[in-house]
Amino acid sequence: MAKVSPTKIPMREQPASERVRNYDEVPYGYSPEEAILEAQRCLMCKKPKCIAGCPVEIDIPGFIQHVVDEDFREGINLLKEKNILPAICGRVCPQEEQCEKECILGVKNEPVAIGRLERFLADWEAEQGEVQLPPKPKSTGKKIVIVGAGPAGITAAADLVRLGHKVDMFEALHEPGGVLVYGIPEFRLPKSIVFREIDYLKKLGVRIFMDHVIGMIKSIDELLEEYDAVFLGTGAGLPWFLNVPGENLNGIYSANEYLTRANLMKAYLFPKYKTPIVKGKRVVTVGGGNVAMDCARTALRLGAEKSIILYRRSRQEMPARNEEIHHAEEEGIIFKLLSTPAAFHGDERNWLKQVECIRMKLGEPDDEGRKQPIPIEGSEFLLEFDTLILAIGESPDLFFLSDGIEITSRNTLKVNPITLETSSKGIFAGGDVVSGPATVIEAIVTGKKVALSIHSYLKNKRAINYQNKT
Ligand code: FAD
Repeated sequence: MAKVSPTKIPMREQPASERVRNYDEVPYGYSPEEAILEAQRCLMCKKPKCIAGCPVEIDIPGFIQHVVDEDFREGINLLKEKNILPAICGRVCPQEEQCEKECILGVKNEPVAIGRLERFLADWEAEQGEVQLPPKPKSTGKKIVIVGAGPAGITAAADLVRLGHKVDMFEALHEPGGVLVYGIPEFRLPKSIVFREIDYLKKLGVRIFMDHVIGMIKSIDELLEEYDAVFLGTGAGLPWFLNVPGENLNGIYSANEYLTRANLMKAYLFPKYKTPIVKGKRVVTVGGGNVAMDCARTALRLGAEKSIILYRRSRQEMPARNEEIHHAEEEGIIFKLLSTPAAFHGDERNWLKQVECIRMKLGEPDDEGRKQPIPIEGSEFLLEFDTLILAIGESPDLFFLSDGIEITSRNTLKVNPITLETSSKGIFAGGDVVSGPATVIEAIVTGKKVALSIHSYLKNKRAINYQNKT
């Protein structure tokens, strides 16, 4: 047998100097030959740990074996049994913390590039032009409504429709996809890929109604009168602010607004699209997660001469995916660590001019094991910036809630952890609106779980009715 590479087969990508001036996707993906070479690195462990590392427990060695055998159709079919969004997860999942972390090859060498192989199969299927639909199930006669067309809602919708239920989906924005469309930039996740998955959902029979803000167009109680069950997958789109002096100055954005303008509303294609955005020359993004990396890299593409990340902990605690940090560094983003803004100062026209920062040191770990940042007294310093983006976190916007649905102290929806039902009968919830900001794959996990739970809720209700009748 030929000697396999100790490192991942590299994925070709746009050179950093070119890509900072366009919005095209950064990595090109594997060719079939590269994918097969990478798949051959898999040891096909008898007791594969990678499966347990995957939140949806994809049969990873199984689909990799199909790549080795060049049977890509079987590979993608196997993947899709557990995850209807492989092209998305292959691109944005934090594999280094999940499946790849458990890969035995990673003990001495680099783990198998599971995410890249997942992406390869999904892209291969798209290139074939024909997507295989599962056989149409027998109708149960039940109607379910899903509020929010993010990954949690999309997954729940797909599983419920395949179980024979009629599914309608209401989305507040003019495009479906949730964060995948309004948050994650085109250069990381091309929107055509998300729309491809949405198209699949429609082909399965799900009806999607755009520009429908539940809470304004219809209340949850009204939905419950029309449908047999409701699923709330409304995400966590309410941005946090620092609450320090000067935060209302012009030139200061929440990450949510900045990215929505740039991505969903295509400000990067101005004037073809008429969305204005401040194209700062010296831009600072506050935060250390994927959202912060996306903002800082977007700022570069919008023409910033300097794009800086200001993060209050050290590099080690940064929650962003390694690949995003690596790409940001390659593109010339400067990381200013262990510092946070204490105040913002404006010019005579109330535009941001200076950010007053304070240095931090790390203290004891918090409940999640991350070291607490502590301000160092007297360490304030000034930096000159014309644009600032706050990427410090989000929470759910629950303005639409009706009486009786309980929330937690973290302003997330309270659900039964087994059934994902809220405190209101027939109303279920999952994804970021329950967990707070998390990951795409976690939203998918709850989408799958909630579909089974709603299915069994509807069956039991029918079973009870049946018993009552006899
Ligand atoms: P969302 O994706 O937020 O979708 C919720 C949908 O509900 C939205 O479309 C919203 O418009 C709609 N909605 C809200 N209220 C209403 C209402 N009242 N009526 C109708 N519709 C409503 N995760 C990763 O795994 N990897 C990454 O690289 C990554 N990068 C990220 C980058 C950014 C910029 C952001 C913001 C998040 C990122 N995440 C990443 C996190 C991930 O995208 C989320 O955890 C995931 O999208 C949550 O899915 P969801 O379906 O719960 O909610």
